[in-house]
Amino acid sequence: MYIGRFAPSPTGPLHAGSLVAALASYLDARAHHGRWLIRIEDVDEARTVAGAAEDIIQTLAAFGMRSDGEILLQSARQIRYSDAFDKLGGAVYACACSRKEIADSRVTLAADGAVIYPGTCRNGLAPGRTPRAWRVRVPAATDPHALIQFDDRWQGLISENLAEHVGDFVLKRADGFWAYQLAVVVDDAEQGVTDIVRGADLLESTARQIYLQRLLGFSTPRYLHVPAVVNDRGEKLSKQTGAQPLDVRNSINALMGAAEHLGLTLSHAPSSVDEFWSLAIPAWGQRFVRT
Ligand SMILES: [Zn+2]
Repeated sequence: MYIGRFAPSPTGPLHAGSLVAALASYLDARAHHGRWLIRIEDVDEARTVAGAAEDIIQTLAAFGMRSDGEILLQSARQIRYSDAFDKLGGAVYACACSRKEIADSRVTLAADGAVIYPGTCRNGLAPGRTPRAWRVRVPAATDPHALIQFDDRWQGLISENLAEHVGDFVLKRADGFWAYQLAVVVDDAEQGVTDIVRGADLLESTARQIYLQRLLGFSTPRYLHVPAVVNDRGEKLSKQTGAQPLDVRNSINALMGAAEHLGLTLSHAPSSVDEFWSLAIPAWGQRFVRT
């Protein structure tokens, strides 16, 4: 049974970039005759905007996309992340470093622009040091387990050496919140997600998530990362880069724009949202579903 999901962060209203990810995940679920779930990724409560989750859910509904099951809120699931964290045992360790100490000790940047952690606290904290964050150990670069490979249904074969690209990464943050990477892996496993369809900006998180799935004994879903939508300046669309909220009164235009970004060719221009789906689902299926 195919189970897919769309997992927005409630940091603002849905925009053209997030619509593309929602549309792709919804089309893939429908073309597979599967289930499609909405999950609100508000694990980073410092970034949550009041009312944004409800707004996103209503906007999706106006476009014809409704969750086939309960809508999970990560902020209500701390105990699950805590249980998973406990299961990791000796794979995690306390880190007392400040951001500055980490930056000063090595200049290498991870693929996502973060500073690669130099492993200062790997073998225990020096006396008098207080734990701030908790990190998971990744294998040495020469260890075959450090190399994570997966076949992305859009991007092709992706390989990442965790030690070289990321280093030991944070699972529990200094501010007390659980890291996004841990929450996503726990939620996907618990919801039985078989297929993750999302924006390519999350491609660089995938190797870390697969690594955590392996440590926790979860199966790895299939992945499909769609190209991110960028603005005139080449920046990924987001609230920070000035993306405009979607206008639900113009739902067909918005859906057509998202479908075009995904390279879908519809036989004719739909005159209703229902007609859009009746054209777009088979168009997606033809391209991405093997029969
Ligand atoms: Zn440290």
